[in-house]
Amino acid sequence: MERKVRVRFAPSPTGPLHIGGVRTALYNYLFARQHGGTMILRIEDTDSNRFVPGAEAYINESLRWLGIGIDEGVAEGGNYGPYKQSERRDIYRKYVKQLLDDGKAYIAFDTPEELEAKRGEIKNFQYDASTRMSMRNSLALPAEEVQRLIDAGTNYVVRFKIEPGRNVVVHDLIRGDVTINSSILDDKVLYKRADDLPTYHLANIVDDHLMEVSHVIRGEEWLPSAPLHVLLYEAFGWADTQPEFVHLPLLLKPDGKGKLSKRDGDRLGFPVFPLEWHDPKSGEISSGYRESGYLPHAVVNFLSLLGWNPGDDREIMSMDELIRDFSFAHCSKSGAKFDFEKAKWFNHEYLMATDDAALASLFKPILAEHVDASQFTDEYIAAAVGTVKNRINFVKDLWANAAFYFQAPVEYAAKDVKKRWKEDTPKLMGELITLLEGVADFSDAAATEATVMAWIKGNEYHMGNVMNAFRLTVVGECKGPHMFEITRLLGKEETIARIKRGVEVITLPAE
Ligand code: GLU
Repeated sequence: MERKVRVRFAPSPTGPLHIGGVRTALYNYLFARQHGGTMILRIEDTDSNRFVPGAEAYINESLRWLGIGIDEGVAEGGNYGPYKQSERRDIYRKYVKQLLDDGKAYIAFDTPEELEAKRGEIKNFQYDASTRMSMRNSLALPAEEVQRLIDAGTNYVVRFKIEPGRNVVVHDLIRGDVTINSSILDDKVLYKRADDLPTYHLANIVDDHLMEVSHVIRGEEWLPSAPLHVLLYEAFGWADTQPEFVHLPLLLKPDGKGKLSKRDGDRLGFPVFPLEWHDPKSGEISSGYRESGYLPHAVVNFLSLLGWNPGDDREIMSMDELIRDFSFAHCSKSGAKFDFEKAKWFNHEYLMATDDAALASLFKPILAEHVDASQFTDEYIAAAVGTVKNRINFVKDLWANAAFYFQAPVEYAAKDVKKRWKEDTPKLMGELITLLEGVADFSDAAATEATVMAWIKGNEYHMGNVMNAFRLTVVGECKGPHMFEITRLLGKEETIARIKRGVEVITLPAE
């Protein structure tokens, strides 16, 4: 019988969620939705030394912002809780005991100093079948001594007893069978008496089992742990219900050499975190996609293609399309290069597809930083941003591109003045004013344009010089959207006032 799809995203709250982690969450989500399955968010916080306050809230907010829905989790509840590992101590104790009772694990008393000394003594020391009998553990020490140490409250850990010389096969839905020999594995610590908590490996396996996880979809960096996990499933007698493994390709630096890191973002000027992060200890602020002006779906679409492709040349895909078409068969084995220019391209495409009214509401807070926004109607703001949206990658770029709709130029670009303001320009602008005064209103852009064109042609004026000088007075520089779209929005009075002021203020550049 087909197993019900239950997947989990299992971050450790050790800092801000990295963009690679977001990609893992997204692929879990797409797969769950495609199969009508369940998406679990499990907080893996058994390592108290690495706990960072605020990290869990950050994870929740990031997923919410991106529209990656969670079905079961700390906030959502569910029948398999608690969903935070630090609240599952009582559950884990029983499983640690089971492994000890079955002789699959043992108690080890070696102190950090003793382990350090061993490492100095034996080259490439590894705690395993070849060394464990020379260590202080329940396999090597007499039973009474072990009991005495426990009764005396001595700190200990529980280690997994790995049998050497076995081929362990990890079946991975992207990579196929990955086989390693168990002799290279060490007797991993599964539980620490001092914390009364299991380590990542044990908690992860027990929870995946108890939460009936069907597919473990996670980053490639966890592949080296997978053989150990396979052996743990076996040790517990759960091999039959072991989840399928899927190890997603790494996100690589933009130049393709090595894993994408926070430093690459700092160096090349792009965020590696979904939201801005304020480090509670250092006070350092790391930029986020949200605060940098990205639309959530642009980020989702961009991430969806880092390690997967739809099998054809489609790039722009809605969440519904991604859910429908996602497949492990089209996930790559090799790392995905992080192409930041592509992220900007996606954002541009999504801004273009955003309707003008929605764009205007995103822009309004920025507008209000510069002018009294209440003097403009929503329709006017929407129409203004509509004429420049093809020129921008981010909402914050709107001000630089559309400011002239909201305030008359205060200065005029020197290089444009130099190039376009000739000796006869004031006279020509004077004629243009007279001409425009005769146009009833500017609401028909094509009609205004036809009138101006006829005047230029009839007088055999230089089209480029006249139109650029006109633009200079209205916009302040020789670029921007179609001139008669601008005059349509500004209206007759404002347009003419700007030409007049330009003629007064702009002086011929000194030769
Ligand atoms: N807690 C691990 C992490 O931080 C989970 C790895 C896994 O998904 O098994 O990514």
